[in-house]
Amino acid sequence: MSAQLIDGKAVAEKLLEKVRAGVEERLGQGKRAPALAVILVGDNPASAVYVGSKKKACEKAGIRSVAYDLPASTSQKELLEIIDGLNADAGVDGILVQLPLPAQIDPQAVIERIDPKKDVDGFHPYNVGRLAIKMPLLRPCTPRGVMTLLEEYGIDPKGKKAVIVGASNIVGRPQALEMLLARATVTVCHSATQNLAEEVAGADILVAGVGIPNFVKGEWIKPGAVVIDVGINRLDTGKLCGDVEFDVARERAGFITPVPGGVGPMTVATLLQNTLDSANLNA
Ligand code: NAP
Repeated sequence: MSAQLIDGKAVAEKLLEKVRAGVEERLGQGKRAPALAVILVGDNPASAVYVGSKKKACEKAGIRSVAYDLPASTSQKELLEIIDGLNADAGVDGILVQLPLPAQIDPQAVIERIDPKKDVDGFHPYNVGRLAIKMPLLRPCTPRGVMTLLEEYGIDPKGKKAVIVGASNIVGRPQALEMLLARATVTVCHSATQNLAEEVAGADILVAGVGIPNFVKGEWIKPGAVVIDVGINRLDTGKLCGDVEFDVARERAGFITPVPGGVGPMTVATLLQNTLDSANLNA
């Protein structure tokens, strides 16, 4: 039997509508629209596409976006000064610095310079720590977006076995914390994991964020499992694909996200949800 497809595009549209309603509620209370500063350094084409889609989503949701398109030669000091200015600006609720950054800039120094209250990516150690101690404030967008997808499809992780393949700071680790918060029993796999196939086969809910096309084999999937594919990989043909061998996995899974159209749109919509949350927390 073929799995039910999880339509991330539709859920993201619904979330954007919800954010828009939240923005209108603020305006009705005489408050200003939330504002997001979007900083792009250099001309990485993939980053330009991501930033473009974030700005477009801002327009849809009624959030003001302020663009900082900086040259690739920008120094770390210059970037940190811009962040300091935005931290101090009461009219800005969220600060997003698109990664990766040019080699002369230390991304961790940048992440840690952003005021945690304006850290709409949720990457600051303060926000990761809040999530770790079950008191989340601004939550990393991709893992939070995955939890929203599950909720929309009536999938409750409580008591289930969640296996996360990938342990990066932006996907796997915060995803594990989200699953733990939702009371799943969590296993995190990475490049030193032995018997990956066996770990995956135990998953009621599988989240893959590795960055290798078709890395998770369809035959590893437990029949009826929920499969969330965070991977976005561009093949030589120009086609996008995920980390899971989709065609085989969809014949075994109960639910599965496609790539594109699964987790990707949720990341952008969740960024705007975080920006609205940040505006409401701060003013
Ligand atoms: P990353 O920083 O390169 O992390 C990859 C993770 O996969 C690491 O934890 C690594 O393990 C693990 N890994 C690598 N080889 C492995 C192996 N053979 N067996 C098991 N684990 C292995 O990548 P990322 O930034 O998390 O991104 C992962 C994917 O998600 C990429 O395709 C990216 O484009 C995509 N992504 C999508 C979204 C979205 O919105 N949908 C957002 C972010 C990222 P170690 O920790 O041991 O190195």
